[in-house]
Amino acid sequence: MRVVLVGPPGAGKGTQAQFIASHLSIPKISTGDIFRANVSGGTELGKLAKGFMDRGDLVPDEVTIAMVRDRLAEDDAQEGFLLDGFPRNVAQAEVLKKMLTDFGTGLDLVLELVVDDDEVVRRLAGRRTCRSCGKVWHVDFDPPKAEGICDACGGELFQRDDDREETIRHRLEVYQEQTAPLVSFYADEGILRGVDATGPVEEVTQRAMSELRRFAD
Ligand code: ADP
Ligand code: ADP
Repeated sequence: MRVVLVGPPGAGKGTQAQFIASHLSIPKISTGDIFRANVSGGTELGKLAKGFMDRGDLVPDEVTIAMVRDRLAEDDAQEGFLLDGFPRNVAQAEVLKKMLTDFGTGLDLVLELVVDDDEVVRRLAGRRTCRSCGKVWHVDFDPPKAEGICDACGGELFQRDDDREETIRHRLEVYQEQTAPLVSFYADEGILRGVDATGPVEEVTQRAMSELRRFAD
């Protein structure tokens, strides 16, 4: 299946993407993770992206689209994929549509994770990310056993620079202005499904999986 996850920053896209991708045996492609790996690796792409990311702005389309085009051309993405964080505006969605049409395919479903702004701010403010394996935790909602240390790999947890209060507010504005229009774009295409993203992580995964199973039947 070819699936896209949309939703505001902090909605739980990354958290859900790992479970959904594993249930469906497809790769999870997270543009935020790819950018962050490039920033830590000090690559040219990372240097270019860093300023935009720290401010909470979108990285320019031509850079992002070239990166996604390369990733989608890899072998493991030929039978399906779960995109997390891309597309993030209508221009990216149009290019993605064209790209897939050229490959003779298209998106099957777009899942919108629906959660209100107050909950998003609570989730982002407490988010901690592992420096080594990238796993995401939350200081209250999903705390590791030992504070500041990743249960999965023993790595050090850190707070993303863009998860500070000022930047969070700006990212929510960017979401409303640039990303939210994707909801009607995909609704018009008839492939949008809303998923209530409140409540325990497993329940949200179940809701997402039932939409995907309904489509597959
Ligand atoms: P969030 O947790 O807010 O959903 P991500 O990890 O997906 O954030 O993205 C972090 C940052 O990476 C974004 O604020 C943006 O600067 C950049 N980014 C990620 N995906 C895209 C994209 N599709 N287009 C432009 N910039 C992107
Ligand atoms: P996104 O990728 O949409 O920005 P994340 O998956 O990184 O969101 O989740 C943001 C924060 O919220 C993380 O700290 C994560 O542990 C937490 N979180 C995710 N899903 C839930 C949930 N259902 N209930 C409470 N906290 C959650």
